[in-house]
Amino acid sequence: MSLAKDEPVLIIGAGTFGLSTAHKLASLGHTNITVLEKDDQVPSRFSGAFDLNKIIRSEYIDPFYTEVALQAIRQWQTNPLYQPHFRQVGFLNVVTGEASPVVQNALHKYNASVAANSAFDGYLVPCPDAAAIHKVAPQFTGDLPGWTGYLNRLAGYAQSSNAMQAVYGACVQLGVKFALGKAGEVDELLYETLTGGKKCIGARTKDGKVYQARTTIVAAGGYVANVVPAIAPQISAVCWGVSHIQLTPSESEQLRGFPVTTVRDIGFFFEPDPATHKLKICYMGGGYTNQKNGLSVPYSTLAEGEYVPEEDIRQTRRLLKQVLPHIADRPLIDKHLCWVADTGNSDFIIDFVPGTTDNSLAVLSGDSGHGFKMMPVIGNFAADLLSKGQQELHRWRWREPKVEEGRPKHIAWRATATVDLSSMPRSKL
Ligand SMILES: Cc1cc2nc3c(=O)[nH]c(=O)nc-3n(C[C@H](O)[C@H](O)[C@H](O)COP(=O)(O)OP(=O)(O)OC[C@H]3O[C@@H](n4cnc5c(N)ncnc54)[C@H](O)[C@@H]3O)c2cc1C
Repeated sequence: MSLAKDEPVLIIGAGTFGLSTAHKLASLGHTNITVLEKDDQVPSRFSGAFDLNKIIRSEYIDPFYTEVALQAIRQWQTNPLYQPHFRQVGFLNVVTGEASPVVQNALHKYNASVAANSAFDGYLVPCPDAAAIHKVAPQFTGDLPGWTGYLNRLAGYAQSSNAMQAVYGACVQLGVKFALGKAGEVDELLYETLTGGKKCIGARTKDGKVYQARTTIVAAGGYVANVVPAIAPQISAVCWGVSHIQLTPSESEQLRGFPVTTVRDIGFFFEPDPATHKLKICYMGGGYTNQKNGLSVPYSTLAEGEYVPEEDIRQTRRLLKQVLPHIADRPLIDKHLCWVADTGNSDFIIDFVPGTTDNSLAVLSGDSGHGFKMMPVIGNFAADLLSKGQQELHRWRWREPKVEEGRPKHIAWRATATVDLSSMPRSKL
């Protein structure tokens, strides 16, 4: 099937993947695109990327994603839509002296992956000890006990909410229509039963309105299984806690320009945001699930997710004491949980839904917590799927995991296993 430029396309979710796809399709000349979004604003507060900033790096143990991330970084550097939101401050990838052998090994693999790739020639700085790290990040006042790793200067961070706002604006200019809030929250997909399967013909929103579409693309992040229940065996909604420290403008200025830093056995943090002077910091861990009847789903309201577990607070303070001890005991503000759609091996799922006919229903999902950096290119992959009529890349196909495989308990690039929120005490601060 080929999709004519004037046929109606429905995109469910105005987060990272949905906005990128709407923008790409509109840029290719599609004139009948509607995006449905459950929040009453874009950037959506339900998006995993509703945040001050996200790391833009191309370290991957799997070279396939290194290449995709390099394509994306070139766009972050040069595309006028994305470039204003990118800060190429470098990516400092380190472990502390207390890191487990598993985490140390992961760091070595990341280092080896970029060291062996000529795209990074001239960008890598070995940082074998605290003295070397202080040289590349003189803003760090802490002792950095046992810290070791490397700096990759072909990396940095993007102001993620600002970037989503910009892409939203560009979509509107290209004629993409948006329905937000109850008018945009999809209650159910609509199907027509045919011989050989069922055809998706659009969606009904919470306010009862029906949107007819030739092709419907579900880009609902951690909420995808609410819209496409058949995907549940492949996806688990997982979240991490995000916290901030409010600095004064002069404190913020003093810390300006340090590389975005991942301390693999504790967490990651960014230079203070230039507009708000907030320093964002996240405990990395293995993430948290919210299990309900054997399926992990995000909280349905924003208010439920406005906290982080006590463990996050403990680890955040531990990290700050090592790197920026003068602010280690400051209040942690704007705490919230941030959701992603995890697959068993961190591969995305960009495919048509089996059992639906005429390529009428596709999913863009399985971001697995590493999807924001791909925003400038993910729409290209969605457009390829629509034009080719099938997913040629095996790794991004819809998968039918065997029941006996169970859910993975530990993804290699994460420091610890995933645990359920129900077993985590909440912070009282
Ligand atoms: C703490 C944390 C840190 C992260 N750090 C990084 C990083 O440093 N670098 C990086 O590359 N990535 C990072 N990510 C991952 C990144 O945020 C995600 O990969 C990315 O946002 C996934 O995009 P998405 O479009 O699939 O989902 P989202 O961006 O979450 O968007 C999904 C959208 O669908 C909407 N929606 C859901 N259900 C419905 C419905 N029924 N009807 C209508 N709309 C609906 C939601 O409101 C939302 O707007 C991080 C994620 C977290 C949680």
